[in-house]
Amino acid sequence: MNIKRCFFLCYLLLFSCSADASTSVTFPDSWDVGQAFAVALSSHTSYEEPTVNWLGVTVSLDVEQGREGYVSYGLLGSFVRDVKPGVYPLNFEFTQDNERFLVKCEVTLREKKYPEEHLTVDDKMVTPPKKESGRIQKEAALAKAALNTKSVKRLWTTPPRRPVQGIFTSAYGLRRVYNGVPRGYHAGTDFRAPTGTPISAPFAGEVVLTGKHYYSGGSVYIDSGNGVISAFFHMSRVDVKKGDKIAQGQVVGLSGATGRVTGPHLHYVLSLSGQQVDAAPLFETSITALLNAMQSEIVRQ
Ligand SMILES: [Zn+2]
Repeated sequence: MNIKRCFFLCYLLLFSCSADASTSVTFPDSWDVGQAFAVALSSHTSYEEPTVNWLGVTVSLDVEQGREGYVSYGLLGSFVRDVKPGVYPLNFEFTQDNERFLVKCEVTLREKKYPEEHLTVDDKMVTPPKKESGRIQKEAALAKAALNTKSVKRLWTTPPRRPVQGIFTSAYGLRRVYNGVPRGYHAGTDFRAPTGTPISAPFAGEVVLTGKHYYSGGSVYIDSGNGVISAFFHMSRVDVKKGDKIAQGQVVGLSGATGRVTGPHLHYVLSLSGQQVDAAPLFETSITALLNAMQSEIVRQ
């Protein structure tokens, strides 16, 4: 298979050729650290096995037939805890006309200031007792594996539904200080949710993990395809089990105050190819609106 590097030059060729068979990629030129963005590959002619590689992780995308040909959508982002502002490669691959193409792009991640938040919790939640360390490690490994699930079929659609109707009480990205001890960044979005509030799935998907974990309490993880994973923490009741197929908006359990909490609420995690991002701006946004904020480049005319 021939790997071909496509340059921006291809774009210029468009003006002298028919655009009817063109293949293009859509991605952000620059974006804020911690925030989700959309990417797309689209073509008037069919292609197979599209993938996108971002921050060292490759995910497979679906090929869907749209009005003007074929399209593959992806949702990506960066975890404010792990990724520094800078320029990062974003590579698409696809097979078309029996040839494998590699399209090399770059995204500049801009710095975004997230505020600090001081919280007081039970001391054993800041420095857990030694006897709990084995359990905490095991749960962390299970959570990491669940958040890095990469199934091909796209079950997510936009805009995602809010998991509860309550307001945001604690935003993503806050630098958290527990009992005076800095403990990294808030890696999810908190919703106000009195204990017993039904939690519904923002995206359709399949349950990949449930548990009663030391830090996250009653938890559910849902895989929605192409690296899009949702997780719900601190639940008082979990109504689903691993392997269950979930419709968008389906209730997966009830909110609560289990695990490391200061009171009942829902902590919602959105992981995109293993990067935990700010979910809040997505609740009012469609993939089309997101893609309109990106740039498109024709990579094959
Ligand atoms: Zn939270």
